Amino acid sequence: MSQIEKAIKIGAWMDEENVRKLYINGEWIKPVNGGTMPVINPATGETIAEAAAATEKDTEKAIRAARTAFDQGSWRSASAHQRAALLMELAAKIEEHQEEFAQMETANNGKTLKEARGDVAEAVKTFRYYSGLATKPSGETFETEAPLVSRVVREPIGVCGQIIPWNYPLLMAAWKLAPALAAGNTCILKPSELTPLTAIRLFELIDETGFPKGVVNLINGTGLSAGHPLVTSPLVDKIAFTGGTVTGKRIMKEAVSNLKKVSLELGGKSPNIIFADADYESALDYAAFAIFNNSGQVCSAGSRLLVERSIYDRFVQDLTEAAQKIRVGNGADPASQMGPVISKQHMEKIEKYIAIGRQEGAKLACGGRRLLDQGRDRGYFIEPTIFIDVDPQATVAREEIFGPVLCVLPFETEEEALGLANDSPYGLAAGIFTSDSAKAERMAKSIRAGVTWINTYEQNLVEGPWGGYKESGLGRELGTYGFEEYTEVKQIINTLKVEPTGWFAD
Ligand code: NAD
Repeated sequence: MSQIEKAIKIGAWMDEENVRKLYINGEWIKPVNGGTMPVINPATGETIAEAAAATEKDTEKAIRAARTAFDQGSWRSASAHQRAALLMELAAKIEEHQEEFAQMETANNGKTLKEARGDVAEAVKTFRYYSGLATKPSGETFETEAPLVSRVVREPIGVCGQIIPWNYPLLMAAWKLAPALAAGNTCILKPSELTPLTAIRLFELIDETGFPKGVVNLINGTGLSAGHPLVTSPLVDKIAFTGGTVTGKRIMKEAVSNLKKVSLELGGKSPNIIFADADYESALDYAAFAIFNNSGQVCSAGSRLLVERSIYDRFVQDLTEAAQKIRVGNGADPASQMGPVISKQHMEKIEKYIAIGRQEGAKLACGGRRLLDQGRDRGYFIEPTIFIDVDPQATVAREEIFGPVLCVLPFETEEEALGLANDSPYGLAAGIFTSDSAKAERMAKSIRAGVTWINTYEQNLVEGPWGGYKESGLGRELGTYGFEEYTEVKQIINTLKVEPTGWFAD
């Protein structure tokens, strides 16, 4: 066993007993049937822990705890400053333990330590931002029909079920919990069954911070056993979901039973467009970053690269050389630049897409294989893979692969680039590389996507809205937009002249 693998000791990061427990109503408790599920390090295929596997009964307990905490009212009616103080304290605790969080994320998700450290810093920023937002005044007043005065206030929605994926485990938990708690809701977080570790540690810190009982609850378990009961429960007021589009559509249908509010952050097949007049070096660098960062397991990955014909051959050649130089290995090894993909099952799905790409006639410029040498045979490593001259209708150009697989397509004109960019059921993000600012603006405004980057890619701001057009989602996270998703709007109409209507006096 290498030094890197030896470093994985769950007990050094958290109370090992808590890993087999759920956090419900302010207490760590075992699932009703005592079930557990293995937690696997995707770099080695090893089981590094056994985590609690909640069933419907456990989820119901968590829902009741969150319902009681909300209805009893002390959290939602606490002063915003009290909520803000707890969120700020939680941010400080995460920051204090940032290196442990990064190591846990790498061990459980496979991402490189550099990527994991970035995620932890963003999670801290998210809690701090929403701590600040909690205390900022909001609402409107209308005095258009004297003596009536209309006041618009925002109130928490209630009990929020929050279901998250495995690609950014801690960061997605922060994106969900911070705005919901700042707005005065109570929460039940359901992490991915593949990546429960950082959420468990986060809840240890939540427990230390002293959030009131039942305000914030954690259920680990599978989508069907632990997540589905959240979606169908009449006691849950909102579902906030991040994950695949197929799951998102199913959740939306199932949430209809009590007309829950639903927000969905789903998949993508984002175009990254390189015009011939772009700064060549930065366009090249970002083209690789947009697809190979986090092993391509990013909802907004620039997985469709559109390159203007006049620079196409040179760009493809340089990008291929750059991709072949990426050092793929255990994310805990500082020499690694790209880690494994999340699981054996996911690796096989990606391999299947690569085989389909070949069958459908896309030309493989590099990669395409699982890496089995240098001790990588036990993990789930896929070479950075580039398909070129891809037909826009090919399966690999249309479906989300969610791995280190890029499709490159040439274009001749701005109109053609725009047509290709918008020819997708998804609409999460897009990149535009050009030195012509008017062209950049035209493209940014005409692409049907929730986020467009000009001469950059995958830069994200906690202050700005995040979310998708078309089948990439519903609603927005982050910024004031993400806060509003956790509020109901209420109008209070008051009259300054108290008198009878006289309606039936005639
Ligand atoms: P997934 O849809 O398989 O699972 C996501 C979560 O939903 C997990 O916690 C899972 O247990 C749960 N789940 C599954 N079935 C469920 C059901 N029937 N009822 C309730 N919960 C259920 O997605 P994944 O494989 O974990 O994540 C990858 C996907 O997430 C990709 O499509 C990616 O694009 C998307 N994603 C989107 C964003 C965004 O901001 N738009 C961010 C990250 C990931």
